[in-house]
Amino acid sequence: METCLFCRIASGDVSADIVYEDDAVLAFNDVNPKAPEHILIIPREHIATLNDLDDAHASLMGRLFLVAKHIAGQQGFDEPGYRTVVNCNPQAGQSVFHVHMHVLAGRLMGWPPG
Ligand code: 5GP
Ligand code: ZN
Repeated sequence: METCLFCRIASGDVSADIVYEDDAVLAFNDVNPKAPEHILIIPREHIATLNDLDDAHASLMGRLFLVAKHIAGQQGFDEPGYRTVVNCNPQAGQSVFHVHMHVLAGRLMGWPPG
């Protein structure tokens, strides 16, 4: 998917402030942060939305949570706490159609979310 922004970040075509990467997953700071810490975690594989997942993606999607936990511990916001969010489709606020997990931290999170 050469036109997909997050695929282009994963391939190194578009630069990003990368905080973690492995063979299957990449994490980088959000360019327009909504909290003092705002990190996006993506699978390297192009998957447009949560609606495109199937059973074969179970381990990959679980890995996003493990990477969130790893980054939270590394950056020291694990104990105060953090929020993970995956928006699916426009009504939920998805604007980049490559599955990604938001990790937000560094301030009190309101509930219910907007
Ligand atoms: P969504 O609205 O799809 O759930 O989240 C997309 C996120 O990607 C937004 O928080 C937005 O700020 C972020 N974003 C959009 N373009 C770029 C970019 O070029 N670089 C980075 N690092 N983040 C981006
Ligand atoms: Zn993509």
